Amino acid sequence: MSQSQETLSNLLQETRRFPPPAELAESANVTAEAYDEAAADRLGFWARQADRLSWSKRWDEVLDWSNPPFAKWFKGGELNVAYNCVDRHVEAGRGAKVAFHWEGEPGDSRTITYADLQREVNKAANALLELGVRKGDRVAVYLPMIPELPISMLACARIGATHSVVFGGFSADALRTRIDDAQAKVVITADGGYRRGKPSALKPTVDEAVESTPSVEHVLVVRRTGAEVAENDRDVWWQDVVERQSEEHAAEPHDAEHPLFILYTSGTTGNPKGILHTTGGYLTQIAYTHHAVFDLKPETDVYWCSADIGWVTGHSYIVYGPLANGATSVLYEGTPDTPHKGRWWEVIQKYKVSIFYTAPTAIRTCMKWGDDIPAEYDLSSLRVLGSVGEPINPEAYVWYREHIGAGKTPVVDTWWQTETGGIMISPLPGVTAGKPGAAMRPLPGIVADVVDDQGQPVPNGGGGFLVVKEPWPAMLRTIWGDDERYVKTYWSRFEGLYFAGDGAKKDEDGDLWLLGRVDDVMLVSGHNISTTEVESALVSHPKVAEAAVVGATDPVTGQAIVSFVIPLSSAGAEVEGEDFLKELRDHVARTLGPIAKPRQIMIVPELPKTRSGKIMRRLLRDVAENRSVGDVTTLADSTVMDLISEKQSDVKSDD
Ligand code: ATP
Ligand code: MG
Repeated sequence: MSQSQETLSNLLQETRRFPPPAELAESANVTAEAYDEAAADRLGFWARQADRLSWSKRWDEVLDWSNPPFAKWFKGGELNVAYNCVDRHVEAGRGAKVAFHWEGEPGDSRTITYADLQREVNKAANALLELGVRKGDRVAVYLPMIPELPISMLACARIGATHSVVFGGFSADALRTRIDDAQAKVVITADGGYRRGKPSALKPTVDEAVESTPSVEHVLVVRRTGAEVAENDRDVWWQDVVERQSEEHAAEPHDAEHPLFILYTSGTTGNPKGILHTTGGYLTQIAYTHHAVFDLKPETDVYWCSADIGWVTGHSYIVYGPLANGATSVLYEGTPDTPHKGRWWEVIQKYKVSIFYTAPTAIRTCMKWGDDIPAEYDLSSLRVLGSVGEPINPEAYVWYREHIGAGKTPVVDTWWQTETGGIMISPLPGVTAGKPGAAMRPLPGIVADVVDDQGQPVPNGGGGFLVVKEPWPAMLRTIWGDDERYVKTYWSRFEGLYFAGDGAKKDEDGDLWLLGRVDDVMLVSGHNISTTEVESALVSHPKVAEAAVVGATDPVTGQAIVSFVIPLSSAGAEVEGEDFLKELRDHVARTLGPIAKPRQIMIVPELPKTRSGKIMRRLLRDVAENRSVGDVTTLADSTVMDLISEKQSDVKSDD
């Protein structure tokens, strides 16, 4: 292929700019100098960030990259993650500070100070030891969003056991394969949790999973809902075993490269991978990015990340980052619409949340529900808003800023992955003049670029593959038990570069815009068109709430664009007619150019999403190409595909 060939079209033009509020810029944790400082001496920069932590033994070498792509960060250093996240704050006299304001879905709540957390983590660590867990063993954690979840993770980290948190919505089969893959010795679970207003059982799923997992010696069960559960010989109750333990436990230091956790990717592209993260580099980057990207002031801020701890966002930005920084956070068990659609905003009002971090899918859902809902609450405590998980469409970004952030808070669109461990590309809220829809620039200390299919940087205005060019502290170390797959999946597409699987473009200023997964890119009449840009154009129509687009085989154009659209509930009956579809197609053509005009648009009630809230385009491609729909097991709601397939027969393709 020739080098001049366009790799990915750049169609969307967005001219709105939002400079940081003056007050925030003046007092920002990180200023523009950080970029230069890191560029001048990247390893020196990361060594200074590592000094945010408390090390038992200092490292000999910041980075050993002698055997790429297997990195060793802070080689020779030793530290304890739980000590860094809990004990050191208590020792510094901040034991009475709240670590978590926990809010249960039914409205119960618990306040957990750093001193409380220290006692609970110590007791849980002692209990794990009593159950025979030793440094280097793996522990599977399958819990709802209750305080015992971060407590379990920290207890594992404290004794050097590697945790593997499995999202509480996963099936017995998914849990079993993850337990087997990691050879977990103990599973920590609960009788159940609350979801959508009722108790939802977890223990039966674990019982089914561990029937055929010989590695599991004990199942440690937290009582949350009080539901009847079957009791097996291997079961022990948290309330019995943990509660009677000593509140003292001396944290031992672990090697900087000691395995901290395994976490499976969310499965958008099928076949989940067990991503391995280690200790010193991970905690360094997570603590730094949480401080820098959210401008966290631990004395005054109340921080809330609405993700589930079962995803990497929850690991890094509910548990490890905020705790390493001594923050006060909200932890919420349930869904945003239980018991009513204003629940999140009610929680923000109640705890005076000042920093809020959520996903574009949630923002678009709130847009669909209507502006009047957040308007009923006092959200004036908010000062920074964050987004993660998918590209955020400009319309969703602007709505978030206007209706949640009172038109004044910066929105930080943070690009990263399970594999990167922490945020890689994001605005800095006190520095960057934000562009709606752009993740902007790699953070200080991160070297990333957009390259063409030859691995050469594209010029400003061009699109291509997003790559990371230098190792970073929180990078994955391997795929658990499969070094070969690690090398093949991430390091073989371009020599010496980490390829993330995502497409991106650089605008005229060199700022980065994420364009979705390269596997989803559509090839229309010789142009590579990103799903993200067409979706953003559709969502910018005043009657559209959500959209997903895919490429379907077309005899004339190679691939043609097929769109699935959810109208705003306020849009009324007119969205049913042929006129509306034409209006939408013309709107896309006007926004992006005729090349991006969808061949078909289907009005649908819902979109297929993974349990982490990402659109699963692979299934929509099946519908668009009139095939029977593929594997739906990782969908949050598998009945969604039936609703969409019903519409399949009415697909009309005009001109
Ligand atoms: P799998 O790898 O199993 O398909 P996944 O990629 O969905 O699962 P995650 O690691 O949770 O699992 O998600 C990372 C991906 O999410 C990124 O590669 C990117 O496609 C998308 N993403 C995350 N944040 C952003 C963002 N701010 N802008 C654009 N895309 C994002
Ligand atoms: Mg991925």
